[in-house]
Amino acid sequence: MDELVSLCKRRGFVFQSGENYGGLQGVYDYGPLGVELKNNLKNAWWSSMVFERDDIEGLDAAILSKKEVFKYSGHEETFSDPLVDCKTCKSRWREDLVVDKKCPGCGSGDLTEARPFNLMFKTPVGPVESEEGFAYLRPETAQHIFTSFKNVQDSTARQIPFGIAQIGKAFRNEINPRNFIFRLREFEQMELEYFVKPGEDESALDYWCEQRLLWWKKQGIRSSSLETYDVPKDELAHYSKKTIDIMYRFPHGLEELEGIANRTDFDLGSHTKNQKDLLLSAQVTENEESTMRLAAQDLEAKTWYVPYVIEPSAGVDRGVLAVLNEAFAVENVGEGKERTVLKLKPHLSPIKAAVIPLKKNKEELVMLAKEIKQGLQSLGIGRVFLENTGNIGKAYRRHDEVGTPICITVDFDSLENQTVTIRDRDTMEQKTVGISELQQLYISALK
Ligand code: ATP
Repeated sequence: MDELVSLCKRRGFVFQSGENYGGLQGVYDYGPLGVELKNNLKNAWWSSMVFERDDIEGLDAAILSKKEVFKYSGHEETFSDPLVDCKTCKSRWREDLVVDKKCPGCGSGDLTEARPFNLMFKTPVGPVESEEGFAYLRPETAQHIFTSFKNVQDSTARQIPFGIAQIGKAFRNEINPRNFIFRLREFEQMELEYFVKPGEDESALDYWCEQRLLWWKKQGIRSSSLETYDVPKDELAHYSKKTIDIMYRFPHGLEELEGIANRTDFDLGSHTKNQKDLLLSAQVTENEESTMRLAAQDLEAKTWYVPYVIEPSAGVDRGVLAVLNEAFAVENVGEGKERTVLKLKPHLSPIKAAVIPLKKNKEELVMLAKEIKQGLQSLGIGRVFLENTGNIGKAYRRHDEVGTPICITVDFDSLENQTVTIRDRDTMEQKTVGISELQQLYISALK
């Protein structure tokens, strides 16, 4: 983990947020390369969920949430971790971190009994602060998918089964944020809520487990780094009938990367019931169809039912950590020398290609390199970088370390013969190719 954290800082992937003021615990900033990697991972998810399928719609709902949403979802009552206080050093711990009834900080045995600590952040809304006038920062993106269910369904004329996908920030006031970007207070989730008829939920859960494992493998995660964990009944979240966690071998151990839960009709059912109360109080009669706003109609049987939902929910930050960890390698390159290389899948690489003029002060070389860069950039695959530092060896090392799949060197032959040298990140092989072939080669290398 230390090597990864150091690489992330040195090369501009991830920084501690507010570092110059001592850092805000559990909050990180993504730097110039981190933002590209993170966006690429999110785009790969969005593409596989929304673009490559015909049964899923997207949503980008608000982060601030009416408190009723998280009251009726059950989070106000149950979304808590057991908290233990150390009376000696005044530190606070999640109960599972306390071993042998000793404070993990100072070793004292003078601890309080565990008590529930709600993980939701509250924030005042409007100019007057009051007990009542607050909103929650959502602790999961899912709830607004449920409260927007009817709007999405009405506006798209979808029939069950169909899904709603969303990527966005979530906030949890974790008692002990730790392990770099693994456990954060501000993080991002990629969540799909896939609605099915009751009775079709169990096969849908199996289906989504398979799909999600396949997807992580496409992001470069080896099968041997992944495991599934059938969460025992007494550890299930309040809404879940069954949950399978996809576990990844993180540098600090085997932990959850994604959870796939059968949330049954718990959420839509609860919002339907409570929305009905609200509608009734606004004098809408109980018989009106609008009281079933979150229900779906069985067209054949002409009855209404509340759909069940299967939820694959993945952490973006845990995903970034996993793909970085998987790609990270230190290789012996002969003569007692080593190189650090990130063998990221090309679609995830922050920089797709570096174009390097052999000499930084040679105007013709730089001009041609710029032209080549613009040509590749216009293909719209991702960021192409003009590396005009004039030290080819250092440039190769830097781009190995940040996972750039190919380097293209522009030298004096380029001016005379219209050729460039392409270097492959993984094999380090170099070959001379014509500039006219370059775009095609670039497209196939990036596949
Ligand atoms: P954990 O048991 O690790 O606290 P969880 O079971 O509470 O996780 P879920 O509520 O299922 O997590 O959230 C879905 C996904 O969101 C998780 O699989 C994880 O990838 C991500 N996630 C949850 N909490 C955090 C956090 N504090 N920091 C970063 N990612 C998180």
